[in-house]
Amino acid sequence: MTRSIRKAEEEGMMIDEILQYNKKFVENEGYVRYITNKYPNKKIAIVSCMDTRLTELLPSALGLKNGDAKIIKNAGGVISHPFGSAMRSLLIGIYELDVKEILVIGHTDCGARHTDSKKIIEKMKQRGIPQKNIDMVKYYGIDFDSWLGGFKDLDLSIKKSVELIRSHPFVPEEIMVYGLVIDSVTGELRKVV
Ligand SMILES: [Zn+2]
Repeated sequence: MTRSIRKAEEEGMMIDEILQYNKKFVENEGYVRYITNKYPNKKIAIVSCMDTRLTELLPSALGLKNGDAKIIKNAGGVISHPFGSAMRSLLIGIYELDVKEILVIGHTDCGARHTDSKKIIEKMKQRGIPQKNIDMVKYYGIDFDSWLGGFKDLDLSIKKSVELIRSHPFVPEEIMVYGLVIDSVTGELRKVV
């Protein structure tokens, strides 16, 4: 079975349900309570993890409503590159959307923490990715270990991202940057000092 056929079959599982729901959502004007504009009311941007436990918990625990904050998410909630997509989003937030404060929020029991790049490469091979594709990343100057690998120390990883933003050549001095950890169950916040 080719990869594209398999993908189409998998898509058939959730996408139909989502589209069906969406049609009703729009018909019933479910969107009315979410109407706002593109500027974040609280002038903040948050960098956090894509962890599904945080989808609703994070904004609820911080008292954030639709329209309050720019939320940038990825695996681990890290800024892994000074000119990568997360940093690009922050810069657009600062210069185009009036962001004044940035919160980098890691969380307890993060799945990205113990990611092992060697194991991921093994899984790629098992699923038919040829070795030549894996070797190809070197030509893009990507170090697989730091790109796909996890982090041992949560606080240290948050501090690194905070430092990277603070010392970024395009981030103005008046932008405040903070590091925090959120409890994945209770939503309790702790400042990383
Ligand atoms: Zn996580």
